[in-house]
Amino acid sequence: MIRDRLVKLRGGMAADGLDGLLVTDRINIRYLTGFTGSYAVLLITGDTAFLLTDSRFVEQASAESPGFAIETIEDGWVSSAADLIRRLDVRRVGFEGAALSYADWRSLSEGLPGGELLSADDLIGPLRMVKEECEIALIREAAGIADLTFEYIAGVLKPGLREREVALEIECFMRKHGADKEAFDTIVVSGPRSALPHGEATDKVICAGELVVLDLGARKQGYHSDITRTVLLGEPDARQQEVYDVVAEAQQRAIASMRPGLLGREVDAIAREYIAGRGYGDYFGHGLGHGLGLSVHDGRILAKKSEIALEPGMVVTVEPGIYIPGWGGVRIEDDVLVTESGHEVLTHSPRELAMK
Ligand code: ZN
Ligand code: ZN
Repeated sequence: MIRDRLVKLRGGMAADGLDGLLVTDRINIRYLTGFTGSYAVLLITGDTAFLLTDSRFVEQASAESPGFAIETIEDGWVSSAADLIRRLDVRRVGFEGAALSYADWRSLSEGLPGGELLSADDLIGPLRMVKEECEIALIREAAGIADLTFEYIAGVLKPGLREREVALEIECFMRKHGADKEAFDTIVVSGPRSALPHGEATDKVICAGELVVLDLGARKQGYHSDITRTVLLGEPDARQQEVYDVVAEAQQRAIASMRPGLLGREVDAIAREYIAGRGYGDYFGHGLGHGLGLSVHDGRILAKKSEIALEPGMVVTVEPGIYIPGWGGVRIEDDVLVTESGHEVLTHSPRELAMK
């Protein structure tokens, strides 16, 4: 819960010798306070916590973030934050370099002549990577909506539909079935376009015999799911089936390995080496999977160079792919929870290429 998160964060601040931490990343603010509005900054010290927002959000902040002192921003957050930091006499202040513009950093520095601004980018991310029970429950719900949506769309797909129509169907269905909204712009790419790992749905008509990559996710009270299936209307040819089988096997091997203590790069290597061994190594360019949580990309956990050790409570995607330019691509993606004894797959949509 939020109180525990603050206790852990303050432990990290003390270890880094910080008297205060200025949080400007919106998702980190939500994680630490519960505030869901779009404009706020947060100042945490050893014994106080202030949420600064403007008049549009003051009432919402009081309701969503009990236990935080709410300060109203009158004339831009930088001057309000600088005033507060001076008033509290906080000297060594951490900031999030990845979420503070150079212009704001400069104004802030000018407003704090006696203070020291220190980059503190690694304090909140590691906390967010390991989910609490209440967070896992929401990701489970989001995963359930994604599965339900895939089941629905599998019944709707037919040759002659446009990629864009299918994406719209997916997004409407998710919203009608409990999602706050879609987790990201739904990917529907078909034929040679399926070789674009993050292609946008277009007006292209989906034809029988084409690979179709569907990548969709739901957001539930801020938490995300993310699932990909590759399907084909009709009968796959030998190469389509072979590429599909390689990706499916790579994914199953990687998932089967997952347990606490294994490094992200070790899981990545299991899928990557299998794909390379089958001759498709040049066609798998991205990381194996990312964390899921309040962000769709909640940490690059399963990646070639990831030294992050898996811990119970982490939720990651496992999504190997093979993309052959001009021919097409296959990706299969599931959401996996790391448990004390190994792992649990949270998404259950069928993994079969051919759809009749
Ligand atoms: Zn995805
Ligand atoms: Zn993903």
